[in-house]
Amino acid sequence: MPVLREAIARHQRRFWGVEVDPDREVLVTAGATEALAATLLAFVDRGDEVVTLEPGYDSYGAIIALAGGRHVPVPLRAPHFQPDADEFRAAVTDRTRVILLNTPHNPTGAMLEPAFLDLAIELAHRHDAIVVTDEVYEHLVFDGRTHTPSAARPGASGRVVSISSAGKTFSTTGWKIGWLTAAPELRDAVLAVKQFLSYVNGAPFQPAIALGLDLPDTFYASTAATLQHKRDLLIDGLRAAGFGVSRPAGSYFVIADAAPLGHADAGAFCRRLPELAGVVGIPLTAFVHPDRRAPYASLVRFAFCKRVEVIEEATRRLGTMRG
Ligand SMILES: *Cc1c(COP(=O)(O)O)cnc(C)c1O
Repeated sequence: MPVLREAIARHQRRFWGVEVDPDREVLVTAGATEALAATLLAFVDRGDEVVTLEPGYDSYGAIIALAGGRHVPVPLRAPHFQPDADEFRAAVTDRTRVILLNTPHNPTGAMLEPAFLDLAIELAHRHDAIVVTDEVYEHLVFDGRTHTPSAARPGASGRVVSISSAGKTFSTTGWKIGWLTAAPELRDAVLAVKQFLSYVNGAPFQPAIALGLDLPDTFYASTAATLQHKRDLLIDGLRAAGFGVSRPAGSYFVIADAAPLGHADAGAFCRRLPELAGVVGIPLTAFVHPDRRAPYASLVRFAFCKRVEVIEEATRRLGTMRG
């Protein structure tokens, strides 16, 4: 709906200083998930390579496989989960069609540095690839940081597809309203696929999300501040319970190491956790290809997009496990 495409264009200008034409450079999708799927299906042909960060959001590998692409992961290592520039340079070649990045990052909460995004864009130019950035956590950032959108970096024009969603920003994940912004020729290629996936989604929700995108800065600041408080509560509680914990810069996830509690296999630990403590976490290995799971074996992703009482009760229960 034009009202939403116009609100998305205003949002890109207001927060990121990026000008997009609401008629030619915006596409509303069934969540970021459909934006990702349609983008990869549009650009990736059989045998083309897609470079991603690993661990990574689980739909990436599935859609790359559906498109017949080859998945080329660059590892993010604990505790900081930042990609190594040399490993990234080596992963991008003339076979690369898409460089798919995610910042702030699910599952680790890491944020990519502007210099890394610049390198990705430079490599995309050199190897005739495109950079696709999944920015669904763009507003969920902490400690006074600001998100860096790839579209605002030098050389981005015509090389970058930016993907986001209302789901995480407004806690409306079930509405499945997402979008992408890109130069007209890129947007049109994705539209050609998207029209045969869903054609249109959630039309009655679209004006409501348009209203949300125009909410004052205080809404966005208080959302991040509330979440930061919950992050700190969860981190303190997990540390008190004996986990090793890294502090995420953004998103609503923390990575906790269960090894200090004597659990070297987070997969087995997470399967027992509902029974042990009435709490659910996801082993980080679920976001990693089975062949490369060893370095992440004892790590668990916990979510803090919960009510304060729920976080307090969960960490209290986890604290009883040490006995
Ligand atoms: C939640 C999530 C998505 C999916 O967003 P929807 O708008 O719900 O489809 C995409 N990417 C990442 C990294 C996510 O965490």
